[in-house]
Amino acid sequence: MTMPNFSYVRPKSLKEAIQQISSKGARIHAGGTDLLGCLHDDVFQVKKVVSLSRLDELRGIRQTKDGGLRIGALTPLVDIVNSKPVKEHYPALAQAASEVASPQLRNQGTLGGNICQKPRCWYYRGEFHCLRKGGSKCFAENGENHYHCIFGSGHVCYIVHPSDTAPALMALEASVRIAGPKSTKLAPLEAFYVLPGSNVEKETALEPNEIVTEILLPPPGKGDLRSGYRKVRARNSWDFALAGIAFVLEFKVDRIEKARVVLSGAAPIPWRSKPVEDALVAKRLNAGTVERASEVVVKDAEPLEHNGYKIPLFRGLIEEELTKIAESFKT
Ligand SMILES: Cc1cc2nc3c(=O)[nH]c(=O)nc-3n(C[C@H](O)[C@H](O)[C@H](O)COP(=O)(O)OP(=O)(O)OC[C@H]3O[C@@H](n4cnc5c(N)ncnc54)[C@H](O)[C@@H]3O)c2cc1C
Repeated sequence: MTMPNFSYVRPKSLKEAIQQISSKGARIHAGGTDLLGCLHDDVFQVKKVVSLSRLDELRGIRQTKDGGLRIGALTPLVDIVNSKPVKEHYPALAQAASEVASPQLRNQGTLGGNICQKPRCWYYRGEFHCLRKGGSKCFAENGENHYHCIFGSGHVCYIVHPSDTAPALMALEASVRIAGPKSTKLAPLEAFYVLPGSNVEKETALEPNEIVTEILLPPPGKGDLRSGYRKVRARNSWDFALAGIAFVLEFKVDRIEKARVVLSGAAPIPWRSKPVEDALVAKRLNAGTVERASEVVVKDAEPLEHNGYKIPLFRGLIEEELTKIAESFKT
């Protein structure tokens, strides 16, 4: 497969960028690490590629007036990995960004591109006219579904959401600012992703003429906070998550006052695990609580023929991560 023909523009302002992407067949180019692969593999047709590279205002990390953090959508992942305020106050995000791909891809890839990247299902990326590409069938349902989802398919499409940073951002209650032709809006990341049962051809709520301009993190909680991201992959080299967990736990005295737990490699969207959160809130983090949380994490899971191994994987992940936190209080 060779690259298709397309025009390439580098707008000088956000307004101009929005005008450019408003024409049919236009696509945004941030770092290009995902987009160029999609073009090469003919995943979708493109007439015009709109580079954001001249929009310096979309780069950088800075504190907001309320004590939170604003991360421009064009900020390279490596800057997030190395950012002092991110490492100090939002370690789940720094860890998730450090788990993305390889050093080269973290230099080139941006946070906006990471949360908007396309799914990695090999049928979707391959020469299969699947439901997500306007076809009539999901080939993974009864096919090679080793890396597919165990939650949230709606029995429609079995992709897993590919981003490592999105589950961490969702656990941290991040929002995204979206700029369109008429206005900008702020949406909680939780409302940003679309399940196949709602629309099988879209992964996010973005309209084709909208751009994510920044990601906003609320001020860190005031209690004793523990947050992190743990990812399990098939190879000890660059790879997407087979299973992962992002968590933010807020302790008051010896009890968990607040818990946000989001799974990666589990569902077509970053998958918030309310059963785990409910098993943790108002409890002491003892062996009984850990056991209960690791049981309920797979409540309602629907494994396919080849991905049943994800059930013990998620149970083990929850058990190991919560046990680590419990032990950190003893030292
Ligand atoms: C070999 C390889 C391994 C990888 N491993 C991982 C991994 O382990 N974990 C992981 O999370 N990712 C992984 N990735 C995926 C990806 O490259 C990175 O996630 C990267 O961060 C994407 O950012 P980008 O700026 O290059 O995005 P681009 O390729 O420029 O864009 C990706 C998509 O998002 C859209 N987009 C980009 N920016 C915006 C914006 N501001 N507003 C609206 N839409 C936008 C683009 O139109 C495109 O559809 C891997 C990729 C490769 C090639």
